[in-house]
Amino acid sequence: MEIKAIRGFNDILPDEIGKWQFVEKTAREVFEGFGFTEIRIPILERTELFSRGIGEATDIVEKEMYTFADRSGNSLTLRPEATASMARAYLEHQLYNYDSMAKLYCMGPMFRYERPQKGRYRQFYQIDSEVFGVENPMVDAELIIMLIHFLKTVGLDKLELQVNTLGDRTCRPKYREGLKKYLEGKAFQLCEDCKRRIETNPLRVLDCKVETCKQAIADAPKVTDFICSECQKHFDSVKEYLGAAGLSYIINPRMVRGLDYYTRTAFEVVSYQLGSQNAVAGGGRYDNLFQEIGGKEIPGIGFAIGMERLISLLPEGKEFSKYPDLFVAALGEAPFKEASRIVNQLHLEGVRAELDYEGKSLKSQMRRADKLKARYTLILGEEELKRGKAVVRNMGTKSQEEIPIGNLLDIVKQKIL
Ligand code: AMP
Repeated sequence: MEIKAIRGFNDILPDEIGKWQFVEKTAREVFEGFGFTEIRIPILERTELFSRGIGEATDIVEKEMYTFADRSGNSLTLRPEATASMARAYLEHQLYNYDSMAKLYCMGPMFRYERPQKGRYRQFYQIDSEVFGVENPMVDAELIIMLIHFLKTVGLDKLELQVNTLGDRTCRPKYREGLKKYLEGKAFQLCEDCKRRIETNPLRVLDCKVETCKQAIADAPKVTDFICSECQKHFDSVKEYLGAAGLSYIINPRMVRGLDYYTRTAFEVVSYQLGSQNAVAGGGRYDNLFQEIGGKEIPGIGFAIGMERLISLLPEGKEFSKYPDLFVAALGEAPFKEASRIVNQLHLEGVRAELDYEGKSLKSQMRRADKLKARYTLILGEEELKRGKAVVRNMGTKSQEEIPIGNLLDIVKQKIL
C-alpha cells in the first residue's frame, strides 16, 4: 500500500516554495531592520513548559498537544507555539545579562491536534517575534507597527488590525468573576465545551464559534468595564502611539486570544478574504509567563504570523517562480560536451542553467525548455560549434540571434543576471 502523509501535515512543493522563501527572506530583512535577532529553538520540549506556560485550561493544553513519552519515560511535547520556548531559552541562557531587553524572532513548524480544515492544519508554520524585558506601551506599538509594515511589504494591504486589552493581575480576576456570573445565567444556551469553560476559562467563551454561544454573549460584560486605571493608561498609550504612526485599527472588546498568559494588550490581524479561519497573525503582552515557567518577573510581548494563511493571500507573481534562466539544447556528441562545460560554468556564476541529458531531438529539447518556462534557450549544433557560434533564443519574444560562444558569459550577464 502506498504510504501517504499524516492528515493535517502538508508537503510544501517546489511549485509553492518561491512564495515561502520570499516571505521568510522579507521577514528576516524587516525584523532585522527593526533590531530583532533570529533565535532557533527545539521542536520538542518538556510537556511542563507548555502546560505551565500556556495554561492548563487552554484548548491547546487540554486537547491539542502532541504529547508522548520518550524511551526514558519523559513526557515530551511537539511545540504548539514558540513563545514559551523562546522565554525558556531566554531564561536558561540568561540573555537578560546581555541587555535589559531582547528582541527576538524565529520561524518554523508548530504542531496542534486540531480538526484539519482550510487554513487550519496539524503542522503549520509560524513566524514569531518577541520582545522581552520592557513594560513600556511604546514597545507594544512598535511591535504592531513592525507587523503591519511586514505584511504590507510582502504585498498584503486589505487587512484589519484589531486591538483589545485583557487587564492584568489586579483587574482581570474581577472581569473573570463578572463574566462568570453572567455566563452562569446563560449556561442553558452554551455548548458543552463552554459550559465547562464557565469554571475553567470563562474568557474563552467569548471566542467560541458556536452560534448559540455567540448569541449568549451578546450582552456579556466587557473587559473595559472592569479595567484598572494602570491598564487603562497603558491601553490609551498604545492607541496613541498607533495613531501617531498613522495606523488604523478597530477596538474589538470580544477578542481574548486563546492562551492564558496574555495580559493587557492583545491584537489580531484578520483578512476577510480568508473565510472562517480569518486571523493571519495574533499576539499580545504576557507579563506573567516568565513567572509561570521560571519564577522571574520579566515582561514580554510578541506575535505569531500563520504562514500558510499569509501565503494563501499573496498574489500570484513571477518573482516567486523558480524557472531556468537558460536551457541549453545540444545536438550531437561534441555540442553536448560543450554544453555540459557551459552549464557547469554558468552554475558557478549563479545562473540557473538546465541541460538535456538524454540525447533527445532538438524538437523535444525545445518542448522541455518551454515546459520548464526557461527564459532563454541556447542552441548548440555541430555546424555552429565548428564556427565557435551558438544561437540564443528569447523564449518569450521568440527572437533569436547567433552569438560567439566565447562571449556567452558576457551576454548572459547582460541579459539575465
Ligand atoms: P496563535 O498562536 O493561536 O495565536 O496563532 C497565531 C497565528 O497562527 C494565527 O493567527 C494563524 O494565522 C496561525 N495558526 C494558528 N493555528 C493554526 C493552525 N492550526 N493551522 C494554520 N495556522 C494556524
